[in-house]
Amino acid sequence: MNAHAFDLSRRIAAAKQALCFGEVAMALNLKGSSRTGWDCPACGSRATLRERPDRKGGRCNLPSCDRGFDAPGLVMTARGVSGSTALTFLERVINERKANGDPKAPSLFGGEHG
Ligand SMILES: [Zn+2]
Repeated sequence: MNAHAFDLSRRIAAAKQALCFGEVAMALNLKGSSRTGWDCPACGSRATLRERPDRKGGRCNLPSCDRGFDAPGLVMTARGVSGSTALTFLERVINERKANGDPKAPSLFGGEHG
């Protein structure tokens, strides 16, 4: 693995760590919610995309689709973009959340909540 690829995989891991699936779905303007399910960007079915219990991914519960997504995969499918563009999108979501002072964001001063 070259240095660039290493850097990319490290950034992907950091972005996945920082975001939960629902936040990514919301940033993509998918219809739905983590509670009711999201519209699946792979098959277009309504509210079939269910967030995983660990909130780091989701899967379409339509048997003919059964597509699983992690955060970058969801962006790639919903937007039809490459992995590196998806990563840029995720990093922008993280930066915007920090800029908005979301209390859910890990604090630099008080450690993480929960
Ligand atoms: Zn689907």
